[in-house]
Amino acid sequence: MSTQTIAVHLPDGAIREVPAGTTPLEIANSISPRLAAASVVARLTPLSGTAQSAATTSSGEQSAEAAMYAAEDSAAPRLVDLSTPLTADTRMELVTEKDPEALKVVRHSAAHVLATAVLELFPETKLGHGPATDSGFFYDFYREKPFTPEDLVAIEVKMAEVVARNEPFIHEFAPREKSLEDFGKDGDFMKTHFVTKFTEPGSQVSFYRNGKFVDFCRGPHIPSTGRVKAFKVLSLAGAYWLGDEKNPQLQRIYGTAFFSKKDLDAHFERLEEAARRDHRVLGKQLDLFSIQELAGAGLIFWHPKGAMIRKIMEDWMRDECLRRGYQLVYTPHVARVNLWQTSGHEGFYASNMFTPMELDDAMYRMKPMNCPFHILIYKNSPKSYRDLPVRYAELGNVYRYERSGTMHGLLRVRGFTQDDAHIFCMPSQIESEVAACIDFAEAVLHTFGFTEFKVELSTWDPSDRAHYAGSNENWDLAIRSLDNVLKSKGIPYKTIPGEAAFYGPKIDVKLVDVLGRLWQLSTVQFDFNLPARFELEYVGEDGERHQPVMVHRALFGSVERFFGVLIEHYAGAFPLWLAPVQVGLVPISERHIAYAGKVEKELKDAGLRVETDARNEKMNAKIRDFANQKTPYILVFGDKEEVAGSVSVRTRGKGDQGSMPLADFIAKCKELVATQSTEL
Ligand SMILES: [Zn+2]
Ligand SMILES: [Zn+2]
Repeated sequence: MSTQTIAVHLPDGAIREVPAGTTPLEIANSISPRLAAASVVARLTPLSGTAQSAATTSSGEQSAEAAMYAAEDSAAPRLVDLSTPLTADTRMELVTEKDPEALKVVRHSAAHVLATAVLELFPETKLGHGPATDSGFFYDFYREKPFTPEDLVAIEVKMAEVVARNEPFIHEFAPREKSLEDFGKDGDFMKTHFVTKFTEPGSQVSFYRNGKFVDFCRGPHIPSTGRVKAFKVLSLAGAYWLGDEKNPQLQRIYGTAFFSKKDLDAHFERLEEAARRDHRVLGKQLDLFSIQELAGAGLIFWHPKGAMIRKIMEDWMRDECLRRGYQLVYTPHVARVNLWQTSGHEGFYASNMFTPMELDDAMYRMKPMNCPFHILIYKNSPKSYRDLPVRYAELGNVYRYERSGTMHGLLRVRGFTQDDAHIFCMPSQIESEVAACIDFAEAVLHTFGFTEFKVELSTWDPSDRAHYAGSNENWDLAIRSLDNVLKSKGIPYKTIPGEAAFYGPKIDVKLVDVLGRLWQLSTVQFDFNLPARFELEYVGEDGERHQPVMVHRALFGSVERFFGVLIEHYAGAFPLWLAPVQVGLVPISERHIAYAGKVEKELKDAGLRVETDARNEKMNAKIRDFANQKTPYILVFGDKEEVAGSVSVRTRGKGDQGSMPLADFIAKCKELVATQSTEL
């Protein structure tokens, strides 16, 4: 061994001089054995070059596969095994269970444990690959005989044995050609494919061994199988090898793993709660919306009750727009392809658009965005600096192509309604306009009952000039403005360099729902590109022609998607001001129906949404039906109430509240609705 010494820079600023070949585990142990025991992997960042912020988290199979095997960016931070010998000066951080990336390493290691168990039980099985996912892991297998539910149970039991054996994960290398030969001999067609695709001829191929099990893998891994402390085999799905139905059918076993049993249990509780709130289930149960096979996937039919909620959302939004100095516009759903060529959508966005349709005069396309239409309205008459800012708002229906099979309820659709607005302003007005947009976004959140949100500022990568339209000055001005607004409002945010659209930087607001899930909501985007493409102008104070800056902003984002989030957030129990039926009336017997008519009229006159159940059913059945529809108030009345001019009130979630004079009840409802209360 050489006596070369390397410098390891630790996060607290300390620098350790250690012999080359020292491992992160040895360094961890020298700091504290407890830290060593808590560490999962180590993160190395080369000393030269700039550290990239948070590695891009990509989901989807292709990227997962590429991320597993592809060569790494040598300047980026990378995770390594605790047993990796350090060979050069480096920054090093020990990654413990507190780091979200550590969980991915545990989950991928659990996938190796799964494959180990499968091969011990079913040695004829051929292996595909087994990446970590956002919620767990999977492994693809090929075996002529399909796995049965009993097999999955046996596999889980065997996995527990592999974990109990606490086998160390050992990183090994073998010559590529020899590896391909071995895999070929064993008929491992998937491993042969991955090695061929993701390694260079003449190279050494990376393997991980635990016990007798060896897998082609770049790592990193946890120190040993015993560190998979809580796991579960979940399900089995079929998939064709490489997504081609002419290829053999693979069996994909899904599982998940956590740092502790407690985390695992909490995960399943969250899943159950999420299933209970699934907007597709509640949408059907509460008769809010549907998707019709005959009409096509991803196209939403709003039923009367869903439509009522939508009307309230849209009325609120339009009134707020007017109050905040926007002008409302309406534009068509289709336009000639020429327009999309001018806007650039035909070039940059065509794959997200519905295919063109030919009419007698030209080719037309459904609109994927409203921007070019608002621009045409702006351009229709000359503008002076006195007219700016011009703010056009529209609840515009747009159509975007999503691959069949990828649609999901209200959340991923082919036709949706954007609460879209475009602001045309002078550079000097950017900051106040953005501040107003952020205020507006906060008002949306608070009004609809969300208290927590996260903000991201996506900026450009100035070293990648070719990918961004607009001058340096404009970019600097825009980013500075967005920065200033967020800072002056005291809103914490995360800057994501290189994530801006090519036409300008943006602020994204993600709401946090009652289950702690993040949903992309509002977006405020700058645009230097479209004003140039459409040669937009205004006459400045100096009498010269200038180009305005354009801001795109959507606050609900998509009305459909926002509605889906609302359904899940409230589990269908909408606050009184949003509830499609606010008050359910239950006359105890037929002779009280006349009084029901009188109560209904008074409530309707007060602007409340009422439904009377006049069926010849038992009182309790009627109450139950309204309760199942999550109706906020149920009023029950018989002889006693009729004589007193009162109603007996049942409040959602609170039960029977006793009798009260009808006038008092109405006053109370009006108060809750007027304040958009989320109390009920
Ligand atoms: Zn691996
Ligand atoms: Zn736009």
